[in-house]
Amino acid sequence: MRTQWTNWAGTATATPHSVAAPRDVEEIAETVRGAERDGRTVRPLGSGHSFTDIAATSGVAIDLTGWSGIIEADPASGLVTVRSGTTLRRLNAELDRLGLAMANLGDIDAQTLSGAISTGTHGTGSRLGGLATQVEALELVLADGTVARCSATERPDLFAAARIGLGALGVITAITLRCVPSFVLAADEHAEPLDGVLARIDELAEDNDHFEFYWFPYGRNALVKRNNRLPAGSEPKPLGPMRHYFEYEVMENKVFGLLCRLGRAVRPLVRPLNRLSSSALSTRSYSDHSHRVFTTNRQVRFVESEFAVPRETLHEVLSELRARVPRLREPVMFPVEVRVAAADDIWLSTAHGRDSAYIAIHQYLGMPYREYFDLFESVVGAVGGRPHWGKLHTLDAATLATRYPRFEDFRRIRAELDPAGRFANPYLERVLGPSRPVSSS
Ligand SMILES: Cc1cc2nc3c(=O)[nH]c(=O)nc-3n(C[C@H](O)[C@H](O)[C@H](O)COP(=O)(O)OP(=O)(O)OC[C@H]3O[C@@H](n4cnc5c(N)ncnc54)[C@H](O)[C@@H]3O)c2cc1C
Repeated sequence: MRTQWTNWAGTATATPHSVAAPRDVEEIAETVRGAERDGRTVRPLGSGHSFTDIAATSGVAIDLTGWSGIIEADPASGLVTVRSGTTLRRLNAELDRLGLAMANLGDIDAQTLSGAISTGTHGTGSRLGGLATQVEALELVLADGTVARCSATERPDLFAAARIGLGALGVITAITLRCVPSFVLAADEHAEPLDGVLARIDELAEDNDHFEFYWFPYGRNALVKRNNRLPAGSEPKPLGPMRHYFEYEVMENKVFGLLCRLGRAVRPLVRPLNRLSSSALSTRSYSDHSHRVFTTNRQVRFVESEFAVPRETLHEVLSELRARVPRLREPVMFPVEVRVAAADDIWLSTAHGRDSAYIAIHQYLGMPYREYFDLFESVVGAVGGRPHWGKLHTLDAATLATRYPRFEDFRRIRAELDPAGRFANPYLERVLGPSRPVSSS
């Protein structure tokens, strides 16, 4: 029976022809071969947390929920091989027990590891890259049903492409991560005037292991988050359970959700509510195991677009947004989030070859966002911004080719590995073009 698939934000839906739930590599390979025999496309599903229709398929969907957990781990080297359907939440818990951790994480832990790396999911830190930079080796089932392995020394081109492969090159079956000894992060969060933050942005990014800030578009303050690693052996001093519940569950989810519903119902209230949210930002200092500081629970649903821009253009981009967002016809309920990352060498990484600042904009679900997102796309486009592959954007292959120096190399590998477009879907057709052999560059 056909079942409908919908993503977390409800911005993408699809009706797969069928859903396979393989439980080992041979069953994954057989699912791909079966799709080839039947002339259908095939796509692995993560946990549906991309805002784009990147995972959507009308062919065979592969649900990897039953292919989860750590396969092997070497605490001495930090190398850990993980089944591709493992969620970050499960991975963090299993790494905890081994005395290991991911060096950097994004805001939530609901994603699968394979979904997260395939779209270039990242956290923040000027000396660190996104999750895919922590990958040492990959195993994939290719379009012809064979199993391939790649690393920096084994099929290095495939490795450079497949770490952020958009699900276009094969079904990842296993991911070897280089983890670090588990560590405690000291979190310091408080509101500061946005002008001061922008004036010291380089210093703040460089002086903190993980620096980010949120800015409500009609407020003058930014919520600045400085997360820094404590020496090995430090004891965590987390928030008490009552305070944790009050701040994260009550204020950030229930009360903020209520304000959003109010603003959506009575639009003239959005600006004052936005300023109220900005001034109510809480100050807190605590420390905890790294993944408990990096990730939080997000219940209020929203739509999001995020672009990576060269870090030196951040000031210019934010100044432009500050001037133009208040003039939009429809008000904005959610804050802008700013993070940083080090340059890396992955072909379709948004931070490929340049130290980057990530600017993410959001709007409460059900409120108009097109005018805002279009404005944003034109502002970041002027400085060569690259869209997060899992967040809303309208760019196509022709434009993206001008923003990624190794774009044609990626397309060449895709055409070699999947000439028939077995893993194709409408999103990939838009951002990569049709899968067919292209001349080597
Ligand atoms: C509330 C929220 C918070 C977020 N926070 C952040 C953040 O802090 N930082 C950030 O960068 N992003 C963030 N994101 C975006 C999110 O991390 C990415 O969109 C991520 O890809 C979602 O992972 P998923 O498991 O849900 O994958 P899906 O969205 O289900 O799939 C993503 C892609 O991965 C492919 N895929 C899945 N499994 C495999 C496999 N085994 N082999 C090959 N391809 C595969 C799919 O086919 C698809 O192309 C957030 C999203 C939400 C909704």
